[in-house]
Order: sequence, then C-alpha cells, then structure tokens
Amino acid sequence: MISKHTILSRFGYQAYRPLQEEAIDALCSGNDVLLMAPTGGGKSLVYQSAGLIRDGIGIIISPLLSLMAQQVETLRKTGVNAYFFNSALNIEEQDDLVWALRHDQVDLLFMSPEKIVQPAVIGFLKDIQISIFAIDEAHCIAQWGEAFRPEYSQLGTLRTTFPKVPIIALTGTVDLKTIQTIENSLQISGCLLLKNSFDRVNIEIQIAQKRKAKQQILYFLHHEMAGEKGIIYCRSRKKTQELASWLESLGLTSLPYHAAMQEQDKQKHHQRFLNEPGVIMVATTAYGMGIDVPDIRFVIHFDLPSSPEAYFQEVGRAGRDGKPAKSLLLYGLQDMLQAQQFGDGENYERLSALFKVLESRGCRRKNLLSHFGEEIAPCGHCDRCLSPSSEQNATIAAQKILSLIYYTKGIQPFSVLVDVLLGKHNKGVMKIHGETLSLFGKGREFTDIQWKAVIRHLIGFGYIKVDHSTTFCVHLNQKAKRVLKGEEQILLPHERYYPVLDENALHKELIDWHKLKAWKSRDQNNPLSDRQLRLVQQHKPSNVASL
Ligand code: ADP
Ligand code: MG
Ligand code: ZN
Repeated sequence: MISKHTILSRFGYQAYRPLQEEAIDALCSGNDVLLMAPTGGGKSLVYQSAGLIRDGIGIIISPLLSLMAQQVETLRKTGVNAYFFNSALNIEEQDDLVWALRHDQVDLLFMSPEKIVQPAVIGFLKDIQISIFAIDEAHCIAQWGEAFRPEYSQLGTLRTTFPKVPIIALTGTVDLKTIQTIENSLQISGCLLLKNSFDRVNIEIQIAQKRKAKQQILYFLHHEMAGEKGIIYCRSRKKTQELASWLESLGLTSLPYHAAMQEQDKQKHHQRFLNEPGVIMVATTAYGMGIDVPDIRFVIHFDLPSSPEAYFQEVGRAGRDGKPAKSLLLYGLQDMLQAQQFGDGENYERLSALFKVLESRGCRRKNLLSHFGEEIAPCGHCDRCLSPSSEQNATIAAQKILSLIYYTKGIQPFSVLVDVLLGKHNKGVMKIHGETLSLFGKGREFTDIQWKAVIRHLIGFGYIKVDHSTTFCVHLNQKAKRVLKGEEQILLPHERYYPVLDENALHKELIDWHKLKAWKSRDQNNPLSDRQLRLVQQHKPSNVASL
C-alpha cells in the first residue's frame, strides 16, 4: 500500500493542506465527503491521493474532455497509471483499456458522467475493485441537471450500485442550496462536509460603473497591470474576437477564446496563454473551468457574470500562485437589463443574487462572501475599502423614480424616465403626459449616470422587478410602496469612477516610455526622477515589444 508521504514526494509537494488531509483520511476510512474549496484550492490532490492509497481503481468523473486529458498527462509523468475513458478513444484503445483494467494496470480512471451511467459500463465496473468515486466540478449537477446533461442527475446510481465505495464530490464556491442539490442527487446526505474559507485574500476586487468600457480596460491594463497575464471575460463570441483584435492593434498580445472556435485553435491559444508571459486571453466563460494557469495576474469582467458563484469562480482563476492579483468588473444598468432579458427563469434568480452583491454598500469582499454564508471583516483592499467614500441618502431620488414608474404604468424604458427627470425634450419624453409631466426637469440634482445608479440599486434590492417576458414592464414591489410612503430610506454609496485611457493617450505614454528608456541607456550615471522611474517601471517591455 502506498503512503501519503510517498504520494507527496512523488508529486513534489512538501505537505498536504489541512483540508486535503482531512478529506483523504475520511475517504480512506470509508466515508463520503463533499469538499468545497475555491478554485486553486488543490482539490485534485485529494481524490488522486485517496484513489491511490485505497485498494482498487480510483474513478474520477469529470465534465470536460480537456480537463481529463490534461490531468492524465500530468499524472503519467509522475508514474501514476492514469487513463481516461471517453468517446475520444477508438475501439482498439478501448480494448487495451479493458485489458489493463482487468489486469490491475490502472490506478486512476477518468470518465465523463455520460459514460459512467451507461448500463454496460456500470455492469463492467461491478467486476473490478474500485477504491473511490470522485465527482469533480460537482456544481455541474445543480447547474446542468436535467436539461443539458441529464446524466449528471443519474449519478445517484453509484451509491446504490456500489454501496461500499466511498464517494467524494468536489466543488468550487457554491451556495447552500447547491450543496443540498449535490448531496441529494448523489445520495450522500450523511457525508462529511468540508469547507475551506472562500476568501482569496491575494485577489483585489474592484467593481465600477461602466462608462467607456474599452478605455477603462485600457487604463487598467496599462496603469495597473502593464505586461501581466490575464483574462478578459465577455458575454458574446463576437465580442471576444473584436476586443482581442483591438488590443492586438494597440500592441498588446491578446487571443480570443470561445466555444465555437476550432478545437486546435482553442488548444493553441490555451498553450500560448499558459506558456508566454503577458498574454491577454479575451474569452467567454467557455475558457476557465478547471484550467490551471498559476500566474494569471488579473481577471476583467467586460460583461456581467451569470451569478455570484460564477463571478467568484471566474475571479478565482487569478493568483493561483498566491501572489497578488487584481480583478475588475465593469457594469451598468444596461448590462443588468440585458443579462435579465437573455436569461431564463432560473437564471433570473441567480442574477438577482448577483445584483444584490454588486449593489450592496461597504466592502466588496464582505458582500460577496456573505452570499456564501461566510462572515469576514472589511478586507482593506477592495475598491470600497481603499477609497471609502461617504454614503448618500437617495430616498427622495428613489421616490421620484418610483413615482414615475407608477404614473407610466411601468411601460416606459428607464432612459425615458431619466430624461424626464433631467428635463430633456426628446421623442420618448414627448409622448408622456399627465401626472408624469409634474416631474419634468425635477431631477437635475443628479446626472444621467447617477440616476441609473439609483435604478440599479432599486433593482438590486428588489424594490422593483423588471419583467422581460413579453414587453418591457416594471413592477413596483411592496418594498417600493414603503419607500414612497417614506417608511424606508434608500442609502447609496457614492459612485467611484474608474478612470479611462484612450488610444491616443496610450500612444503618447508609450512614446514617452521609449524615449525615456533610450535616454536611460545612454546615460547610466544620470539618475531618473521619481516620476520618470515610475514611468519606466509601469511600462514593462513585454507589453510594448510589438509596437
Ligand atoms: P482545484 O481543483 O481545487 O481548483 P487544483 O487541484 O487544480 O485545484 O490545484 C491547484 C494548484 O495547487 C495546483 O497547481 C497544485 O499543484 C497546487 N497544489 C495542490 N495541493 C498542493 C499542496 N499540498 N502543496 C502545494 N501545492 C499544491
Ligand atoms: Mg479542479
Ligand atoms: Zn474590502
């Protein structure tokens, strides 16, 4: 029997992390485990170890071919007999695998949920000794469940067919409801629940009102993260391509990645991102699950993620090496409405949870973690903690908006309501009459963006509900009535504006930098001023090499 110690030295690690050890021990004494740890928490080592320590073959169920292939390759390099069994194998390879399984030549076997629930496969597995079942990325059970990958919800048969084989479900950040879904579906409700702190302290969180998004990103890339490796998440495939080529044209090495790309291009881009310094991956969420790139320094959300879980997971891809990393999410009212409009009912709920996290006052990290039931003190290094700004009482503003929604029966777009408040004469506003006009021009104390922030807040905290099912329609909830009656106050954080950098300014700064560098190399003895030094440090060469 192989010991924990041997495994550590074979994989080149000093020690197990506390949670890893606890999970391995529980499995080795035959218990089921649900292990929740953030991306990068080291979940793989748990099932790899337990699978090797216990007698028999460790079976790992994993949702993506690419994940399996990558792990199998790494494991083989350390002398572990790891295989995968999926639709990519031809008949001959399948026969070889069956032979190896029957002759005790396999330590760990990876397969998809679709494969394992096949009666023939289950039948075959009954005849061999199995050490553990591991369900990796178990949140997929709740996420994909019936609709997309129904086999995920059939994995409960493992418990009934193999009552003596311990099961471990592994997942990133999920909420309580998802935990219950996983436990029920896998029939492991008596399992040991192990939960790591979700907090990834090395990642700085920034969230800001989207204005000129591309220029805001440029500022971030150039002033906060020059020359670093990172991911920019976009909602649409088209946008990943557009944004990547725009960044390329500015001399920043960037690659698109989305599900509709050729498999070989995806692989190529992933490899370049993994191996080259300073590459920017502009991707849809197709890029990410299970990727293990240690030195991602930043994650930008150009569009809204689909839930707090998705947000946390996507951000969590940065800084896996434990060194400082940053994240920036840009969004505005329009993004909220669009996200709602294109999602289905279930999605709507997740989005609402996300909006609440985004619209909450105070420390960003605290708000996010409290969604997952974890209470922390203000973090000290999110945008809110770094520049604490006073809050404002926006109750009167909220009353104006709510009244307008009421007067117009909720069918006017928010932009028209804001224009009414700002006293703008335009086509939409012209159609408005009656009581509505009493508020015409009565909201000049706020700018357009400030008004939209008020509306964002009203949506985020459920004062109003936007119905996209047929035509756009806004409903006032019970809470809204309390605001209208003055029984409830609305407090808003002051908006912090994330700076912009346009293409021309970027060029000018880069030219300055080149001049400086040339000047510095001519005269080594002449020290640079503080400002010049900053410029040189800020602009790492890898970033401008292609200019
Ligand atoms: P997860 O599946 O939880 O996202 P992984 O299993 O991919 O995380 O592991 C993330 C990283 O942590 C990997 O680079 C892995 O090599 C490293 N790692 C895991 N366990 C340890 C350990 N005990 N000591 C040092 N590094 C570890
Ligand atoms: Mg993993
Ligand atoms: Zn904070």
